[in-house]
Parts: sequence; C-alpha cells; structure tokens
Amino acid sequence: LVSRKWRVRPTVLDLGDGVRIGEGTLSIVAGPCSIESEAQMEKIMQHLVDNDVRLMRGGVFKPRSSPYSFRGLGMEGLKQFHQMARARGIKIVTEVMQVSQVEEMHDYVDVFQVGARNTQNFNLLDALGGVDKPVLIKRGISGTIEELLSSAEYVFSGGNEKLILCERGIRTFETASRNTLDLNAIPILKEKTHLPVMVDPSHGIGIREYVAPMALAGVMAGADGILYEAHEKPEEAASDGQQTLNFAESERLIHNLRKVYALR
Ligand code: PEP
Ligand code: MN
Repeated sequence: LVSRKWRVRPTVLDLGDGVRIGEGTLSIVAGPCSIESEAQMEKIMQHLVDNDVRLMRGGVFKPRSSPYSFRGLGMEGLKQFHQMARARGIKIVTEVMQVSQVEEMHDYVDVFQVGARNTQNFNLLDALGGVDKPVLIKRGISGTIEELLSSAEYVFSGGNEKLILCERGIRTFETASRNTLDLNAIPILKEKTHLPVMVDPSHGIGIREYVAPMALAGVMAGADGILYEAHEKPEEAASDGQQTLNFAESERLIHNLRKVYALR
C-alpha cells in the first residue's frame, strides 16, 4: 500500500492552518532534542516564528541509552508544549514510545514520531494505524530501507495513510560520526513509495558543524523535509547538545535550505 505501484500520485499531508508536508513544499522541522521548560520553548518558538517555520520537534518521552540520562518532561511538558504551539500557529512533532501513550498524547500532538529504537515495535505501529493523525517513522538504527517500508505498511494497512518516512542515519563500522546518514535512501525511497520522505541530519551525523551540509545534501537528494535539532544554548541542552544548532546556525541553515530547494 505504501508502494508507488499501488498509488502513483505522491501523498501530501495537510495539517491545517496552511501547513503541508509532501511533494511541492519543503518542510522544515526544528526544535530541541528534549522539551526542557517553558522558557526554553518560548525562545525556540520565537526563533521559528521569526523564520516562518511552522513545525517544531521536541521530545517529552525520551528514549535514552542510559537510564540515568534525562528522560523527558512527560505529559505535563507536552500539555505546555501544545498550549504554547497553538498560540503561535506551530505544529508539534513529538515521539511516542509505547502503545499506552498513544491515547493520552493524541489531542496534544500534530505528528506522532516513531523513534529509531521503535521502528519495529509492531504493537505501537498497529496502535498508530488506528489513529487519525500523521505518523513520522524514523528508520531503524540498523534497519534496511525495506524494513522501514514494512513498518510504514503496518500503519497504512491498519487504516492510517498519513505517513512520513525519515532517514536518520544507520549504524555502520564507521566511528568518525555518530551514525552514517544514508543519503542513498532518499532517491530510493522516493522511487519506491508515494509517501513524503524527510531527513534528520542531526542524528544522522551527530556533529554540529556537519549538520547543515548534510541537511542541504538531503534536500538536493530529493527530501521533502528536513528535521533537525536547534536550541538557544546547545551547550546547555539536556540531550544531544553536541549535534544541536544554535539560533544563528539554524537561521543560516533555514535560509540555505530554501535557496537549495528552489534550485531543484
Ligand atoms: C530524536 O529525534 O530526538 C530521536 C531520539 O531520534 P532517533 O529515534 O532517530 O534516535
Ligand atoms: Mn536527539
């Protein structure tokens, strides 16, 4: 069902208030790795509004490698996030980690994100198949392109056709970067599926200085959107500061992304 053989026309998602995701628009999704406080959200939202970016990312349930790391503000944080975003016309992309969260999060999110560690959590995918909200599925840490498409198939066949796929880097033998951003996946996915394809260069390379060039490369490779981490003070971020852009870097990237997209 997610194949181009089934549907030739590209899927375009309409999130309301003039926000669309899919062919014909470049979607920029920026925000912190973790939602930390109202003050933090206030700053980043102002940055997004100033740059005409309508989608904000930010985790309230964080899948951390160590149980001692910051694991997010949970539902209280999401409710604040929702209230502040609504007031500014911003749409929320945030991670859902387990089936029991789908219902409680439902009214407060615009796009459910399925993280790389949950790409093959088939119970979660089944639950999201029954929801009338877009779902962004990250590629698994060691997942193939075919496996990502199969994960999307779970949600689609469950009845939810509002899907976005996201390349976020895979684990390889290379140790010079956090992950290896697989740019190859973009034209391949665009050929195989009618669904919108995004790229996450922050987790893809994991090194702040290289996030912008990889984001731009992702657009040239055919991505419909870029999702990256931004924070007023990356060095003070509760998670993933090493791969997070500050506002000056983020603004420059937004500008360049739009220029490069126009060249396509
Ligand atoms: C994130 O987007 O903050 C995240 C945890 O991403 P991933 O699931 O790709 O590691
Ligand atoms: Mn992160």
